[in-house]
Amino acid sequence: MKYMTAAEKTTLAHFLDLASAYCKGGFRSDGQDFQFSDDVQQDAAGNAAADSLEHIAGDIRACEDCQLCTTRKNAVPGEGAHKPLVMVIGEGPGADEDATGRPFVGRAGQLLDKMLAAIGLSRESNCFIANVIKCRPPGNRDPQPAETAACAKYLKRQIAILEPSYILSAGRVSAQTLLSTGEAIGKLRGKFINYPAADKVIPLIATYHPSALLRNEDLKRPAWEDLKLLRTALEEAGLGDKLR
Ligand code: URA
Repeated sequence: MKYMTAAEKTTLAHFLDLASAYCKGGFRSDGQDFQFSDDVQQDAAGNAAADSLEHIAGDIRACEDCQLCTTRKNAVPGEGAHKPLVMVIGEGPGADEDATGRPFVGRAGQLLDKMLAAIGLSRESNCFIANVIKCRPPGNRDPQPAETAACAKYLKRQIAILEPSYILSAGRVSAQTLLSTGEAIGKLRGKFINYPAADKVIPLIATYHPSALLRNEDLKRPAWEDLKLLRTALEEAGLGDKLR
């Protein structure tokens, strides 16, 4: 006895195909292979096309992989120098960053710029500034694990292209996310820790978030010690001539 005709089986197969792609977060149009957002891009000739900061920024602005896309005004991919000496990684956009689409432009950002300038760094010349999460959590709450997880792919792609010599992790959320730990920022700061990037290990130094320094003057001295450690490391690595 036949339970299904060939036509019914074909319809079912198409449905399962589609459902499976949907569950994996991808899509497929007839006659083509599955495409996923983290697939290597291909040019018209089918060659793997190099990823780029602009491409990542476009993907971030179009991203709907977590609920923050429903409340953001602007996604904030990051900005700064290519192949920077230092990639500064903060927590996530605040109100000013959400309004402008640029990282660290509010009061904390102005302090960050001053801190960087004090050791010869700037986003205009030798730093790239980004965040672990690219869209503003409402009310500046901590990002939720699902949001951080959904955003991790963008930071990984940025780091792979930028190949920073060092990472400066600003604040508890950034340090804990990058280092996959629940350790307090007071324990994580003040030393270099290896950050395993795609094909190399990048020395990372964590420090207090500039907005924490605005709230608590006592944190300024240890933050300054962290910055001096970073400057010394850059000089010892022979990169002193790239500091301004
Ligand atoms: N705080 C952050 O962590 N990142 C920003 O871009 C702004 C404020």
